[in-house]
Amino acid sequence: MRGLLVGRMQPVHKGHLQVIRRILKEVEEVIIVVGSAQLSHTLKDPFTAGERVMMLTKALAENGIPPSRYYIIPVQDIECNSLWVAHIEMLTPPFEHVYSGNPLVQRLFIEKGYLVTEPPLFNRKVCSGTEVRRRILTGEKWEKLVPELVVEVINEIDGISRINHLAKKEVSES
Ligand code: NAD
Repeated sequence: MRGLLVGRMQPVHKGHLQVIRRILKEVEEVIIVVGSAQLSHTLKDPFTAGERVMMLTKALAENGIPPSRYYIIPVQDIECNSLWVAHIEMLTPPFEHVYSGNPLVQRLFIEKGYLVTEPPLFNRKVCSGTEVRRRILTGEKWEKLVPELVVEVINEIDGISRINHLAKKEVSES
């Protein structure tokens, strides 16, 4: 059986890793869709799809998850929610089970007849992309919220300086 997890992963954090581990206890392979692949360089979506793929690949290797157990597929958003599941199906290997905590994602897959499970949240107060980005912006410690190799990727791509620069841009435009 193959499972599917969709996430913006802005950035990949320990909650994502926890949910992937849990899914892999139930299915042989997981398809990880990096959503909103067209978005980057905004405060809400600072990282490109390629950077998010790199974060995931390294975090999964760091946690001993072999590449034979997952597919990472970036997918751009589309205008029509009612066609989105078909859009995902076109770009991914076949899957039977969808895992998501996002009510819109759950609804769209349920309407197409998929088995949908809401995985329990792991330390959601701090394990969220919003919290990681907030801490980066305010200069608070964020590194413990993400896998170690994600810290390295964010440093390699100069992510902290990018987010701070974007904050100045958004203030100047408001
Ligand atoms: P996200 O990165 O916030 O979360 C992804 C999943 O990770 C969650 O559903 C949850 O199951 C898990 N997760 C997150 N934090 C966790 C924690 N602390 N502990 C355990 N699990 C945790 O991403 P999201 O916002 O759900 O992403 C949905 C994507 O689907 C977006 O890119 C959105 O644009 C896309 N989408 C697109 C369309 C369209 O194009 N029409 C329609 C619906 C959704």
